[in-house]
Amino acid sequence: MSLEISMHSDRCFRALIEHSTDAIALLNPDGTVTYASLSIERILGYTPQEFITINGFDVIHPGDIPSFAHTFQQLLATPGLVDTKQFRGRHKDGTWRWVEATVTNLLHDPDVQAIVTNLHDITEWKQAEEELKALAEQKERYVGATIVKITEWKQTEESEQLFRLLADGAPVMIWTSGIDKLCTYFNAPWLAFTGRTIEQELGNGWAEGVYPADKQRCLDIYTSSFDARKPFSMDYRLRRFDGQYRWVLDNGIPFYTPDGTFTGYIGSCIDITERRSLEQQLQYSEQKLRSLVESNIVGVAVTDAEGRVYEVNNHLVQMLGYSQEELLSETMRIQHLLVPEYREVRARAWKTLVSQGASLPEEKVYVRKDGSLLPTLVAAATINQERSRALVMFLDISDRKEAERRKQEFLGMVSHELRTPLTAIMGLIELALMQIDLRLRSLAPDAEELINQVEQVLKRASGQVEIETRLVEELLNVSRLELHKFELSLRRENLVTIVQETVANQQQAARTRHIELALPPDEVVPVMVDAGRIGQVLTNYLTNALKYAPVDRAISVRLEVEASVVRVLVRDQGPGLTLEQQQHIWERFYQVAAPGHQGPDGGLGLGLAIAKAIIEHHHGQVGVESAPGRGSTFWFTLPRASKETLE
Ligand code: ADP
Repeated sequence: MSLEISMHSDRCFRALIEHSTDAIALLNPDGTVTYASLSIERILGYTPQEFITINGFDVIHPGDIPSFAHTFQQLLATPGLVDTKQFRGRHKDGTWRWVEATVTNLLHDPDVQAIVTNLHDITEWKQAEEELKALAEQKERYVGATIVKITEWKQTEESEQLFRLLADGAPVMIWTSGIDKLCTYFNAPWLAFTGRTIEQELGNGWAEGVYPADKQRCLDIYTSSFDARKPFSMDYRLRRFDGQYRWVLDNGIPFYTPDGTFTGYIGSCIDITERRSLEQQLQYSEQKLRSLVESNIVGVAVTDAEGRVYEVNNHLVQMLGYSQEELLSETMRIQHLLVPEYREVRARAWKTLVSQGASLPEEKVYVRKDGSLLPTLVAAATINQERSRALVMFLDISDRKEAERRKQEFLGMVSHELRTPLTAIMGLIELALMQIDLRLRSLAPDAEELINQVEQVLKRASGQVEIETRLVEELLNVSRLELHKFELSLRRENLVTIVQETVANQQQAARTRHIELALPPDEVVPVMVDAGRIGQVLTNYLTNALKYAPVDRAISVRLEVEASVVRVLVRDQGPGLTLEQQQHIWERFYQVAAPGHQGPDGGLGLGLAIAKAIIEHHHGQVGVESAPGRGSTFWFTLPRASKETLE
């Protein structure tokens, strides 16, 4: 029975061992395994048979051996000692498992005579422990981070102060808002602008200052951008401290902390009222300009000084007969379409454009693609700050020119037709006077008296015919000038002689008048002129002076030699001219309407216009210095010719 019990107990014991989740291994003092239970396979992958061929120390992680060896030594030295050790054991498949070994020294026990090792797989537990440790570490780190955060927060407080300091000094209005969209801060310039306290502005208070019509749009942009965390830029009217609504441009951007946390928005605002009105003005003038360009009333082009064309409107395309592509091509130069004699006019106009920003209307003649001529009135204004490009307007004046040409032709024809009988009348009068003068026999006193009366009448008639002839001559001159049929025969002449002769002629005609003549020391003042024409100009000045100045006042004529020109001046002590009159007297058919300005012989108002044209044909200038009641000094200049021997 006792044996039965004993055997039963032995089996029971074995069964317990075999089915235990723990493995049991018996070791010799040198670590060799003498027995291993079945569970060893579940823990370390070796069958009990395989396990007993190895040394227990061979499966221990090198890192754990020193501590295990130390425990083992202690265990060997102390029979009955039980110790527990954790170590990493190498699984048969090479992986490491955490194993807890409870080691008991039963070497002294005669039934056992081994180190009994109870092995328990604690890998999972260890992993959990690792995780816990990691968690703990994380927690620690978190706590650490929180501490850092607090420190940072302290720094943020400082930087917040710094931010506010900077923001208050900034030349723009600045605001910030929190993640709830409500505004949390407005800088000093904002508050100064709105004239409100920060408390009034905080949250949504600022929106009270937005112009009612802009408010909804403003809030919509703000809210939608905010929700999308997108930057926005909007303009709206904001009430200023003085009640005036000003246009502001508000730029907002989402704000993130360095670790990427969204903290709200920060925005800056500037007053763009002036800019907007400038923009509007610009837009308006751009519109005006566009409507002018597109109206096709005048030809319009954008060109530069070199004549490159950058833009043309349809009207100009039609006027010139070239296609838009041809006009805009890189090789096209607008001045190449000009009649050569007008190219200089263009060069001059560009100089004015660069210095003044605009050039006055001038007549120019272009050549169309089909070779026909296109008379135009051209005015230009620069369109950029560098004044390198100009908007040029071309007005087709062909019709006007044609009408003028016909008028001039008519005038020319009429004056020519008038001149022929006048010459005949003059000849006949002179013949009659000559016959009276040459009468041979003396007549009866009655007849003599009658003849004398007839002579007086004939002389008066001759005077009137002379006036008529001069007027017709002026008309002819004007029409020749207009039709460019005015011919000059230029010769090297001595201006002194021309002046002396003209003055002498006028003195002869008006013997009672006093004409002073002041000449330069040089006896010879050479000029390249048509002597007859220059004499005509001086005659015109002199006859005007004689006509309009009181008979008892002297007239002075001066000839002055300047650096590059010579100047002839005729001074009278007549009624003088206002500034406005001075500007108009050079126009054709202009006569001053005021009393004292009409001559006894009723001129046509053509003399000065002809004088101006003659002088300009000689590349000289004309002018007048005058003031009402203080007389007038009419002058003209001519370019000096070199001092070569006169022909
Ligand atoms: P007109 O044949 O009428 O004299 P002009 O062209 O010579 O024509 O002169 C134009 C006008 O200028 C004159 O009608 C006159 O009113 C004014 N004028 C010209 N010369 C003088 C002057 N020396 N003093 C005052 N007015 C003058």
